Amino acid sequence: MSKRYITAQVHGMCGGVFSALRKLDEVVAANCGKTVYVLHELVHNTTVTSQYEARNVCFADSVDAIPAGAVAVIGAHGLDAGTEAILRSRAKTVIDATCPLVKKLQNIAAQLDKKRELIIFGKSGHPEVAGVAGNSNAKETFIVSSAADIAALPELTAPFFISQTTVDAAKSDAALQLLKKRFPQLEYSAGVCDASLKRQNAVISLAKRCPVIIVAGSAHSSNACRLREIAAAQGADSYLVDKASDIPEDVLKNSSLIGITSGASTPECVINDIIHHLEQAGFSS
Ligand code: SF4
Repeated sequence: MSKRYITAQVHGMCGGVFSALRKLDEVVAANCGKTVYVLHELVHNTTVTSQYEARNVCFADSVDAIPAGAVAVIGAHGLDAGTEAILRSRAKTVIDATCPLVKKLQNIAAQLDKKRELIIFGKSGHPEVAGVAGNSNAKETFIVSSAADIAALPELTAPFFISQTTVDAAKSDAALQLLKKRFPQLEYSAGVCDASLKRQNAVISLAKRCPVIIVAGSAHSSNACRLREIAAAQGADSYLVDKASDIPEDVLKNSSLIGITSGASTPECVINDIIHHLEQAGFSS
């Protein structure tokens, strides 16, 4: 049987991630071997994180783990205003690598009138959501991720809706429609970024052609997880893999057509390794 693979038309690192990597590269080069601290991860990808750890970058779990006088970088997901203020008072230098599109959501939240309520569609506990919520000036902030969460909201007088940049765009839109019905006075601003939207649309097209989809990305990457879920919703057997060797052997053995894509924080070397792995197993493009 002939074995083929197809790569998604749009995949891989987005502009926001490239920009964050470039900023950290510049800081690492300027500090000539001294430890540079990043609060949380720069981007959610294990390959990227381990490559920087090898270059003397320390990813700190909390602001308390960053020594006074350090050179520190804020990752692409941004920070809440309180944590950022502590970091700036503690570190000698702070370089902000927050994606401009995340920053835009933070600014929208910060400019809300005190009488308003903010509703964020996204994952509670995700650093981007925590950062947007933690910059909000609204009197209350609610994080929702399902119709049940929306039904459980209390009566609101002046709600404003935004979504996390990397959620499933179709689900974000469905949440918006439900909220509009419940709160006719709802105002909103687009949240899902163009990079996420393009990768999601590309994986929908790919999953219509390929019975098996491999998404290159880490399990804690929101946008990569959404690509796997979206492909699965189209009926494809979908796998999220951090590296080529994570692809199950029986998938390689039993598949004749595999679609490949990668998340917005996945470096090109990972997808190249996956393509090489598939070619070793008899697949061609
Ligand atoms: S996925 Fe979107 S929001 Fe996230 S870093 Fe990329 S461009 Fe920015």
